[in-house]
Amino acid sequence: MDIKICPCCEQGNLYYYQHPKILTKFIFCDECEALWFNQSSISSIPDNNFENFLFQQGITNITEMWADIWLNENWCNNPVYDN
Ligand SMILES: [Zn+2]
Repeated sequence: MDIKICPCCEQGNLYYYQHPKILTKFIFCDECEALWFNQSSISSIPDNNFENFLFQQGITNITEMWADIWLNENWCNNPVYDN
């Protein structure tokens, strides 16, 4: 099974992620800022973008948040697969 390619940048792979500071599980692209809330809504128009979503969650330090994700060795354990 192939990991789903991001329909926005057509380069990145999509992964599910749940961060302890954020209640909502989301799907993000590892290349661009695109973000979706469930697999059925994945299209070239993202549900949100990473930075905006974090601001909405009250998280203002985007750099720290990305670092958190990349430092978590489990970040790539839940890819979104192509149907
Ligand atoms: Zn992308």
